[in-house]
Amino acid sequence: MAAAPPKYVYRFSEGSREMRELLGGKGANIAEMARLGPPIRVPSGFTVTTEACIAFLEAGGAVTDDLGRQIDAALGELEEEAGRRLGDPSDPLLISVRSGARVSMPGMMDTVLNIGLGDEAVAGLAERTQNERFAWDSYRRLVQMFGNVVAGIDGMLFEGAIRAARSQRGASLDTELETDDLRSLVEEFKRIFLEQTGREFPQDPRRQLVEAVGSVFESWNGARAIEYRRLNGIPDDWGTAVNVQQMVFGNRGDDSGSGVAFSRDEITGAPRPSGDFLGNAQGEDVVSGTRDTSDLEEMAEMLPEPHRQLIEIVESLERHFGDMQDVEFTVEEGTLYMLQTRTAKRPPHAAVRVAADMVEEGLLSREEALSKIDAAKLEALLHPSFDPEFDLDPLARGVPASPGAAKGRIVFAAERAVEQAAEGERVILVRPFTEADDVAGFHAAKGILTSEGGKASHAALVARGMGRPCVCGASALDIDLEAREMRVDGTLLREGDPIAIDGTSGVVSIQDVPLVETEMDRYFQTVLDWSDEFGRLEVRANADRPADAVNARRFGARGVGLCRTEHMFLGDDRQAVMQRMILADDETARRDSLAELEPLQRGDFEGLLAVMAGMPVTIRLLDPPLHEFLPRAEDLAVEIERRVATGGRDEAVERLEGELHRVRQLEETNPMLGTRGCRLGLLFPEVYEMQVRAILAAAVAVREREGSAPELEIMIPLVDYERELVAMRELVERTAAGVVEGLGAEPVPFSVGTMIELPRACLIGDRLAAHADFFSFGTNDLTQTTLGFSRDDSEGRFLTEYLRRKIVSRSPFETIDTDGVGELVRTAVERGRRERSDLALGICGEHGGDPDSIAFFHGAGLDYVSCSPFRVPIARVAAAQAAIAAKV
Ligand code: PEP
Ligand code: MG
Repeated sequence: MAAAPPKYVYRFSEGSREMRELLGGKGANIAEMARLGPPIRVPSGFTVTTEACIAFLEAGGAVTDDLGRQIDAALGELEEEAGRRLGDPSDPLLISVRSGARVSMPGMMDTVLNIGLGDEAVAGLAERTQNERFAWDSYRRLVQMFGNVVAGIDGMLFEGAIRAARSQRGASLDTELETDDLRSLVEEFKRIFLEQTGREFPQDPRRQLVEAVGSVFESWNGARAIEYRRLNGIPDDWGTAVNVQQMVFGNRGDDSGSGVAFSRDEITGAPRPSGDFLGNAQGEDVVSGTRDTSDLEEMAEMLPEPHRQLIEIVESLERHFGDMQDVEFTVEEGTLYMLQTRTAKRPPHAAVRVAADMVEEGLLSREEALSKIDAAKLEALLHPSFDPEFDLDPLARGVPASPGAAKGRIVFAAERAVEQAAEGERVILVRPFTEADDVAGFHAAKGILTSEGGKASHAALVARGMGRPCVCGASALDIDLEAREMRVDGTLLREGDPIAIDGTSGVVSIQDVPLVETEMDRYFQTVLDWSDEFGRLEVRANADRPADAVNARRFGARGVGLCRTEHMFLGDDRQAVMQRMILADDETARRDSLAELEPLQRGDFEGLLAVMAGMPVTIRLLDPPLHEFLPRAEDLAVEIERRVATGGRDEAVERLEGELHRVRQLEETNPMLGTRGCRLGLLFPEVYEMQVRAILAAAVAVREREGSAPELEIMIPLVDYERELVAMRELVERTAAGVVEGLGAEPVPFSVGTMIELPRACLIGDRLAAHADFFSFGTNDLTQTTLGFSRDDSEGRFLTEYLRRKIVSRSPFETIDTDGVGELVRTAVERGRRERSDLALGICGEHGGDPDSIAFFHGAGLDYVSCSPFRVPIARVAAAQAAIAAKV
């Protein structure tokens, strides 16, 4: 005997909220409302499942006999319940067909309303409703929607016909068209349908229904829906369900209307329902925005009883679903119908307030409330943003690399950013990409915009660390640094022109977009306090300067997980000495420059340690390739040429030639794989020695001043071999002992650990652990070296295509590549702890601020994550969510 065919169709009374995979989010929630019963009234109907969608698409877009039979049976029951038949010439049943995927994809897929009308049924509808205009308007909408959505006819053809009818009547609104106009329009629409498709508009209502269901299924594979899924990480194989529902009409007179409502204020999250209502109108009129809507208080005056019921229902739905709801409703001749309910989307500050309030109101436990927050969006709460009400016309788009919005005048060079900021100008630093010596410009600028690079590029990293908004990789920008101008498509922008960037969305605009400020309010504080109770992972911050450390503490970091000491060598007073040190011909000359740098470096550490008093501070010895601090060879060559041409050869030229020679000597083809990290410490031990002396002396001074010693952790970067670590540890311990002895001070306790940021280091985790007190995973370099993807430019180049073609679902520089990089992390953890059970484990790459990666690190058994100060709140919430999710 053949197996029973799968059940493809569920009446609303058969479903429930648990069935969203099968019935889609909308179908499952409608079923749940139907199950709850009075006072909730849901128009009858049924859902065709997501499995039917997949089967339909697999069958090449055909409604199988099985599916057809099941739809017929459900339709029969619906007709019985409604007491009307589809296509009945005297009193027709009208139905709507709407898509409803597992997660809501607003506006992405198709809807067809008023199915069941035809040349005969329209008269029946007019008769029953005693409203001929309404009947013909409904028929007109059906032919238009069916033609557009199901038959794929260009919507402009119908719009054009409506416009012609309006001008003939001398009307400015569709509502001013009269019955005869609408009747003629239906004829015109049917003519368009025939002309465009080569067939008559189908009069058979069952055919209308089946074709509409098929077209909603097909819309799952429409370009818009595919793009939406790609952007939101929704799998292609989920399919969409279709909801078939009896139509109710909000345009039946003054005792009717349609609206949307939220169980709490959708903008602020305040605990009172809010919404929009339109009297004598259908739902699509509310969303289309063509008529001015009323708020719910005005609705209370127009329709007091339906309003009272609506508020009661919305509040009960929120209690039932345990989350803020967003509903659509229609009032037909005084009777309130609920059409759908779903979890309300809300801006991050509202999300936080709702979570805090719901716990206070006893609706949710703290764990439940925390789990409902989208941690990744929280960073926006700490930065200003573009006013969401503003009618934005983007000039270009790039990678949203560091959130927050900023406006200012364009400058194309870091020095000019510094100069102009000193004069009180607000500037945006615009560069093809940025480098270490642009950092002073970052401080001066309100925001950074680059045409190249991605989320892990230099610009992105530094900007995030400082909390400066940044858009990277806006490839439409054609920047001419010499001419101090850029072209963006047809627009020419010069230095000094105004520009606005939004690092949360990646949008660039030349409009004067208003910015709205945000505050860390008491609700946010409450949510963060709860997070710390539940989270197991400790959250530290990456902070290089005292100002970063102040932010780190403000946002609740429990220490500094990474101080990149190289950033301390930038700035006018240091860079020149640093250059002299690097360019020195011999060790003695190098030591002289280092002696000049040492007190400055000690001062930096004192500042940082004082802010972080009592907390762990991990200071990493110098990491980047030295030539990052030097002038560019081309610039030097040009300068030499200019001097020779104007004044001939002199001493200055010879000095510059010496510099050029040394710069060329230091140049490397792959500097990120070159002389950097602990390789510097091995080649130029005097540099690391100077840093260790400065650290220890600073710690002694802070201990004297503050009365307690900071928890010092000294970290060695880019270790590959056990012997590198052994040598560096010996250097650190020997130098530290020398400092303490020299000062005649009590020893300062410190630990020595290593960055784990190369695959080899992960694999020999046990051998490294024998010489390390802690491991800190540098997942930026680990991702770069594991995948062989350049952290500086992959995102602006091939990764975009990789994402589009779904070779990867997320940028591995944003969310940890669990199969590759993650496996190496697990290996290092397991081998490291095997050797040394008390080995402290952290991560300080950019992934430390990404919620999905944080969940992975929780599972991998790390002790802490460290991220840029502005990401600390995200990490605290994400750490709690990971711990809560792991418990259930
Ligand atoms: C890393 O590589 O992940 C890291 C934290 O170090 P940096 O970004 O400074 O190379
Ligand atoms: Mg690194």
